[in-house]
Amino acid sequence: TETLHIVGGGMAGSEAAWQAAELGVPVVLHEMRPQVGTFAHRTGHLAEMVCSNSFRSDDHERNAVGLLHWEMRAAGGVIIAAADAHRLPAGGALAVDRDRFAEAVTARLRAHPRITVAEGEVTSLPTTGQWIIATGPLTSGALADAIAGVTGAEALAFFDAIAPIVHFDSVDQSKAWFQSRYDKGETEAERTAYLNCPMDRAQYEAFIDALLAADKTEFKPGETAGYFDGCLPIEVMAERGRETLRHGPMKPVGLTNPHAPTVKPHAVVQLRRDNALGTLYNLVGFQTKMKYGAQTQVLRMIPGLEEARFARLGGIHRNTFLNSPTLLDGAMRLRARPNIRFAGQITGVEGYVESAAMGLVAGRMAAAEILGRSMAPPPADTAMGALLAHITGGAEAKTFQPMNVNFGLFPPIDARGGRRGRRDRYLAYTDRAKAAFQDWLGAARDAA
Ligand code: FAD
Repeated sequence: TETLHIVGGGMAGSEAAWQAAELGVPVVLHEMRPQVGTFAHRTGHLAEMVCSNSFRSDDHERNAVGLLHWEMRAAGGVIIAAADAHRLPAGGALAVDRDRFAEAVTARLRAHPRITVAEGEVTSLPTTGQWIIATGPLTSGALADAIAGVTGAEALAFFDAIAPIVHFDSVDQSKAWFQSRYDKGETEAERTAYLNCPMDRAQYEAFIDALLAADKTEFKPGETAGYFDGCLPIEVMAERGRETLRHGPMKPVGLTNPHAPTVKPHAVVQLRRDNALGTLYNLVGFQTKMKYGAQTQVLRMIPGLEEARFARLGGIHRNTFLNSPTLLDGAMRLRARPNIRFAGQITGVEGYVESAAMGLVAGRMAAAEILGRSMAPPPADTAMGALLAHITGGAEAKTFQPMNVNFGLFPPIDARGGRRGRRDRYLAYTDRAKAAFQDWLGAARDAA
């Protein structure tokens, strides 16, 4: 039987290796750690969790992430089994002891008779053999260059820049006002799309001082390398000059403060609606690497945001991912090189669970191809199928961004019999998904 090579022993690569090996295919799993590290990983273990120790909600009846857990359990997943075995008390979430978890995955893969772990960095895209690339958001530079050589650099993204988001009801409306610059827009909604927070000179100068002094997460060597011009962190802009922000995202032009119509603001922070309900607003152009504690302190200096509650804080991290809707076929193969599949976060899913799930699907598909069996992708009304359909075709290619699993990706459920409550509707989604997923697993068993 032909050997399957998998590059990257993270969430996706580990799961893909396990699935393929369990189906009878010999696997070589190439992992660069511990020889070559990343800025976020600390150990040489497979399936290391780089940040939080949570696999999020375990509610498989009414939550799409919990449903992915259920599907991974049904498919004999190694990641979910290790998570279950090393679970910590965390309410409805599946949180784990991260070291025991990663050690368990590593031990099971190393003990598998059909899996060989090969240490070392892979730096090129092989032209022959069956391969899965699952090198994640922190894909090494050499391999990212090799991928870009095939896909074109514009089809490979390198950074996620995240601006903070506040709850609308925590913004002081006696200081802020709604207005788009120069009242631009066709409709009233467009002319009032932004919420503005004004600063006078003293407030601006104090804000710049605080930004410069704030505790920041430092960039590691090679992290910034020219990628950043569109989305500089505000503190980097402030370092370039005290007036830089006033000529950038904090420009005070085209705006009149109705609370003080005769006073021209020295600078303005603009917030833009972040959801359809209008309950969340993001700070426009305010991506930042300030540490979380410093970030809330400094941002609450903005007039109107003194009492702000943050729904999400800002951040910038390396995130290498493909424009999958244009590059991958429905079986996760690179159209230009069908001997290569991609899996995990590099395909444009987001999160440990989603990445492991896409590894599971890729591993099974690659194994089926090697064994000469036909295998349909998981149906679009399963959680795995919905995610897969999104990244390989459903998503808008032009604005493609990493996606978490959610019920919005599923084919809608017919609401016959009146309006269902949201909780009932979610239960209907998960019931339908579980039945379809069992059928998919059954078809794979029959093909064997
Ligand atoms: P990874 O788990 O990163 O695995 C990729 C593996 O490939 C790594 O082991 C790496 O060493 C290896 N590798 C890379 N290049 C090469 C090469 N050239 N040759 C050989 N091996 C290579 N998700 C969450 O759900 N919760 C979080 O809290 C969270 N926090 C995050 C924080 C940061 C800083 C980052 C970058 C991501 C975070 N994510 C989080 C997203 C999370 O990383 C991914 O969802 C998940 O780990 C991706 O799984 P993966 O298998 O695709 O990649």
